[in-house]
Amino acid sequence: MKRVHVIADPVQAGFIQGVLESEGIPTFLRNAWLGGAAGELPSQECWPEIWVDDGDHARALELIAALEQGTTGDAPAWRCPRCGERIEPQFDRCWNCGGQRDP
Ligand SMILES: [Zn+2]
Repeated sequence: MKRVHVIADPVQAGFIQGVLESEGIPTFLRNAWLGGAAGELPSQECWPEIWVDDGDHARALELIAALEQGTTGDAPAWRCPRCGERIEPQFDRCWNCGGQRDP
């Protein structure tokens, strides 16, 4: 297992975890139960951590980086329904097979 992300906000941690799992990457959340202890600011050591299998590590980092870029309001990248290629949001067609974005 490898740690891919540490996040102060457990809600965001859950969101990122959901995105990774929807991409077929099994995740494991550590420390989720420690955040928000009454009256105490959790130290960084207690922040939620998302862990994935070694083989999924590079891809998970890529997805999280894309998510963080996406926080500026851009649409998320989409996946071609025909060939499964990941397509940047500014394109309406798959560069690989010409497939159209799912409406
Ligand atoms: Zn395609």
